[in-house]
Amino acid sequence: MRKGTNKGGSHNGRSNRGRNAAAEKERADAPFQKNEEVTVDIIGLTHDGEGVGRANGFTLFIQGALPGERVRAKVMKVKKQYGYARLVELLEKSADRQEPPCDIFKECGGCQLQHFDYAAQLAWKRQHVVDNLVRIGKLNVAGEGEASDGIVVHPTVGMDKPWRYRNKASVPIGTHNASGELIAGFYARGTHRIIDMDDCLIEHEHNDEVVRVVKRIGRELGVTPYDEETGCGVLRHVMARTGVVTGEIMVVLITNVKKLPSADRWIERIREELPGVKSIVQNVNTRETNVIFGDETRTLWGSDVIYDELDGIRFAISARSFYQVNPMQTVELYRRAVEYAGLTGNEDVIDAYCGIGTISLFLARKAGRVYGVEIVPEAIEDAARNAKLNGIENAIFEAGPAEVVIPRWREEGITADVIVVDPPRKGCDPALLETILKMQPERVVYVSCNPSTLARDLRVLEDGGYRTVEVVPVDMFPHTTHVECCSLLVWNGNNE
Ligand code: SAH
Repeated sequence: MRKGTNKGGSHNGRSNRGRNAAAEKERADAPFQKNEEVTVDIIGLTHDGEGVGRANGFTLFIQGALPGERVRAKVMKVKKQYGYARLVELLEKSADRQEPPCDIFKECGGCQLQHFDYAAQLAWKRQHVVDNLVRIGKLNVAGEGEASDGIVVHPTVGMDKPWRYRNKASVPIGTHNASGELIAGFYARGTHRIIDMDDCLIEHEHNDEVVRVVKRIGRELGVTPYDEETGCGVLRHVMARTGVVTGEIMVVLITNVKKLPSADRWIERIREELPGVKSIVQNVNTRETNVIFGDETRTLWGSDVIYDELDGIRFAISARSFYQVNPMQTVELYRRAVEYAGLTGNEDVIDAYCGIGTISLFLARKAGRVYGVEIVPEAIEDAARNAKLNGIENAIFEAGPAEVVIPRWREEGITADVIVVDPPRKGCDPALLETILKMQPERVVYVSCNPSTLARDLRVLEDGGYRTVEVVPVDMFPHTTHVECCSLLVWNGNNE
């Protein structure tokens, strides 16, 4: 179950050489030349979904190749211990290879694994979690079905129908090179070139419809797309969000100008074309940045939120708030988080990185009291509104950084039986982990969208006296390499 690292190799690090000389030497060390065609055995997948190939003891990363395959590939780039090659021919095919159902899979950067059978994706995601726990966290993982004191990593919880699951689309607007027409689509893999797209197979149909409609209206009204090179143009992105249970739709137009030209026409036409629309919002972003949203958000028409429901709890969601993109799997994930919290009705629970209070309200149904903390003030406003909306009175929310607010709560005498954390990709702030170790809740439930920072943080908590009992990967993002996990840790005492 524990595999050796792929990128290994026994080269000595040469520290004090000129960069060019080192690069030349690197190429001399490599067994291949650029443009050479080689036969490669694929032994794994990187976290980006590239095949990891071995040939003559050298590692080559090959987009599109799958574990177990033998391929011919053309070497494109050579470094000291590894290189990149382009797939030329499949010599031996994996039994897990499948025809990607989407026509633009190869060009689009959105999905990475459509060529990989879904059951194999789920198995790979579990193994990816195990590898991270072992390599980065230096944790002891129990083998599948093995009785041992290691961490139990469950099979990945998958979807019965892993398509059309996304409730949110953020789509860049651009100009067609030849026709000059306004287009909306995706950035070609690894570039900022926009390719027009009408249909995305992992997107809810409503969101695809919103994008098509916005494109049509933009063309009718002669709207100029934003141009990254010149910084000119009006429309940068369209964001569509659908409450999958309620059917409510929000349309957000992200503009490079404060005043949206022909705003009334926009509103009229969107309402004509999209009867389910409940909220039309403008966000202003005039900065030269890859970040989609700017700071100024205003409602052009309708409500400033849409509603959705998860397991019978209603949520108001505003344009800037984080809300999980796969609602069906979110319920699976949160149910496990609640189960791991082991609540009997009396516990004090802290939900750190709580967003609009989703996990908090799931917990509040079973706990004594829940304290939620989140850095985005609008999300905290949504969280408080959501508690009220559901008649939940035992949840309290505060805006601020978790690593600042929770230590202050501790000084004020607040204690916790359970702390739930659900941080962004970079993981928990070290100051928060330190506070958890001081507060010593009986259980910590760690929800993570990044197995490598999860493994790093579990190591810190283990060193501080916690024991990781079990981890369950939940597939929130089928056909992509993203992996979400829920983990249970229990206080083990520091008397070892
Ligand atoms: N638990 C929520 C949100 C998880 S996403 C849910 O499942 O919907 C992570 C959240 O952490 C985001 O809402 C982000 O705004 C917030 N965040 C990022 N850094 C933070 C920090 N230092 N302190 C508190 N919240 C933070």
